[in-house]
Amino acid sequence: MCGVIGLFDNENVVSKLYSSMLTIQHRGQDSAGILTFDGTFHLKKGNGLIRDIFDQKNIARLQGNIGIGHTRYPTVGEGSVEDAQPFWLNFPFGIAGAHNGNITNFFQLKKELNDKSKKIINSNCDMEVVLNVFAEYIEKFKNKKITPEIIFNAVKYVYKRVKGSYAVVLYIAGIGMLGFRDPYGLRPLLFGETKPELTNEKSIYGFASESTSLSVLNFDIIRDVEPGSAIFINEDKEIFEKKLSSKPHRPCIFEYIYFARPDSDLNGINVYSSRVELGNSLAKKIKKLKLDIDIVSPVPDSARTASIAIARKLKLKYREGLVKNRYIGRTFIMPEDNARKESINQKLNPIEAVFIDKNVLLVDDSIVRGNTSRAIVQMVRNAGAKKIFFASYSSPLTNPCFYGIDMQTKGEFIALNSTEEEIAKKIGADLVIYQDIKDMERSVRAQNKQIKSFCKACFTGDYPTGDITEDMLVQIENDRANNVKSKLNNKNK
Ligand code: AMP
Repeated sequence: MCGVIGLFDNENVVSKLYSSMLTIQHRGQDSAGILTFDGTFHLKKGNGLIRDIFDQKNIARLQGNIGIGHTRYPTVGEGSVEDAQPFWLNFPFGIAGAHNGNITNFFQLKKELNDKSKKIINSNCDMEVVLNVFAEYIEKFKNKKITPEIIFNAVKYVYKRVKGSYAVVLYIAGIGMLGFRDPYGLRPLLFGETKPELTNEKSIYGFASESTSLSVLNFDIIRDVEPGSAIFINEDKEIFEKKLSSKPHRPCIFEYIYFARPDSDLNGINVYSSRVELGNSLAKKIKKLKLDIDIVSPVPDSARTASIAIARKLKLKYREGLVKNRYIGRTFIMPEDNARKESINQKLNPIEAVFIDKNVLLVDDSIVRGNTSRAIVQMVRNAGAKKIFFASYSSPLTNPCFYGIDMQTKGEFIALNSTEEEIAKKIGADLVIYQDIKDMERSVRAQNKQIKSFCKACFTGDYPTGDITEDMLVQIENDRANNVKSKLNNKNK
């Protein structure tokens, strides 16, 4: 998963961009990059967290009013620094960009660009391919004035060739900044404007994966880029917008469940409020089970909001019995199982005084492989709990995500071909309770009924782009498994 931000300022943009990027660190902690433009491109990217990559020296070098920032967790490629974003090209124009999503026909496009157009794609990052496809279209107009119409047709060309999910921010040197979402609007992209302090200056414009990235900069107007639409800001800061595809909107439901920040509004839906609603609706199901529960306790952090809602609805005590060490990175993304298990214990610690002799309802956002859940159940048992009921406010996950969320191969899902009783046994809980899929969708949709359906492919296997064939599933799973292997090999070198 990734986060992207593009800012078109009136003054040096890098400090604004840097502070805004800190709000999308949770979307990718493997690498990050900043590109600015002041007549030439300046680029700095590296592996690790934003605070470790950028220092005063490279910030001083990143001059210009235009900037694109990116945080990355790779879903293709090995995560080497060559694959970090943003990317830029020099032909037919200077074009730079970054995206959030995952291109499902990446390997095919990489080959086609090489075989037919003799383009060399140096990285294993799908953004390089998007950039080249876009450039391939506008190359035909290299001796003409590049109008918004040409830009929009280039986006249409991208839609025709590039499959999967993508929320893209591009800057075409001396021509303007462009933001667009894939036809289904799978991944979020927000657009914002703010008036500068000096009245004779033009507005500052921005694109971002989450509304929070623009609200921390005090933007006055923040709205979604429509799915299948593009917004173009030319060098005179005139805005052009066009709907380029009429596919149904299918935003990713997992953004609301786990991924996005609670203070973000995506697709007209506030993430925090959707988690309250997910908690309320799961409480109804739990109530019917008439369980003997003493306390409701969240797995921090994402499950906190829903847990409070559940405790309130069920008129039960809410207790935070698991303490999270904030200084340890996400455990989920470590490729080796052992390292993952070990660091779960370092990451969470139980409070015995909370759990001892209690029947506990533990609440988490999801159960993926079950490694974290198993370790947590064990931890809470060791802390003296009598019964442990494990509730997930999302439905059972059974299918890999091909649109940018790190959910790898099918075999890794604990819920695949298992009953709830079997899952409970595997993670050591007395009972496992999942949210029903209809309730999950209804809860998130409650704030925006214009969205007819979400992408729930990781729960149902129904991929909205309609182009994920069995062969592709096998191929992409193999690619991913190989990536994990080579990451491991590189680590051992
Ligand atoms: P596990 O019990 O090992 O399946 O881990 C479940 C935990 O992983 C939950 O607490 C989620 O908050 C978290 N999680 C779910 N999806 C992801 C993801 N794509 N990346 C990182 N963590 C995730």
